[in-house]
Amino acid sequence: MSAQILDGKKLAAKLKARLKEEVAAIKSKNHSVPKVINVMIGNDDGSCAYANSQKRAAEEIGIEYELKTFPIDISQEELRGHIQQLNQDKGVHGIMLHRPVPEHIDYHLVANCVDTEKDLEGINVSNIGKMILGETRILPCTPASVMEHIKSTGMDIRGKEAVVVGHSGIVGKPLSLLLLEELATVTICHVATSEAGRLQEHVGRADILVVAVGRPELIKGAWIKEGATVIDVGINRIDSGIVGDVEFETAKQKAAYITPVPGGVGPVTVVILMRNAIESYKVQTKGA
Ligand code: NDP
Repeated sequence: MSAQILDGKKLAAKLKARLKEEVAAIKSKNHSVPKVINVMIGNDDGSCAYANSQKRAAEEIGIEYELKTFPIDISQEELRGHIQQLNQDKGVHGIMLHRPVPEHIDYHLVANCVDTEKDLEGINVSNIGKMILGETRILPCTPASVMEHIKSTGMDIRGKEAVVVGHSGIVGKPLSLLLLEELATVTICHVATSEAGRLQEHVGRADILVVAVGRPELIKGAWIKEGATVIDVGINRIDSGIVGDVEFETAKQKAAYITPVPGGVGPVTVVILMRNAIESYKVQTKGA
């Protein structure tokens, strides 16, 4: 078997077209559009590249986008002050705090200052809590991107064995909840699963395998169940370029569907950020 490649750029284009129509309808009805602010500290090349891709996506969809950069030595209190101002600005509908932040800044503490209704990344504690209860449409971007990829295959997730490798607060844990919401049987693997020598065994059971670890080609193609759907979230820079957490060439011989790295989860993640901006706008304008 050679897997069908889940092309993130194509899926992103399809989602963007839908969102563009939605924003056009909002604009003709309300004479306003969602406005998002990306708060970035410093200006390293990786952050700027991601900010540029956000800007392009926003422009294509018709969302107003502004990048606010602050000096690398900004204090946590000053930064919180700026976020409070953005919270109070009725013309701003969504705020994201760009990662990485300098060491003296506590990312989660500052991200939690973002007003719940403006939390573009769906990661403040209130939105995570609402997600557990199925009460919010503002979902964490990378997990939501993974779900879009899985759903794009047309598979029925209900009752499938889903194995998530990695349990970080921004990817693995929230993703496990989204899979559970669809009634998959979810197993979460982490470093202790590897230490116990049981990673291969769990991976081998997965109808749906999602890997978000950050270790180049940790998951061997030979481990993967025939016909599985494999979503590789990992981004690892090695001498020969960028690779994922899954050994792509061998995994593609076993899987039915697989995401490439790069060009899989990443392009869709940016679009989910914009989808969240539209949802935030709707909440703040009471669905006007
Ligand atoms: P974290 O470092 O926060 O989490 C990594 C997770 O992997 C942890 O839960 C860790 O477990 C687990 N882990 C580490 N080593 C092993 C191992 N040998 N076996 C099993 N599990 C292990 O990373 P993130 O979740 O932030 O990101 C993961 C990857 O996804 C990175 O490559 C990142 O660049 C990429 N990424 C891609 C995005 C995209 O849009 N495409 C967005 C966000 C991230 P423990 O804590 O127990 O050590």
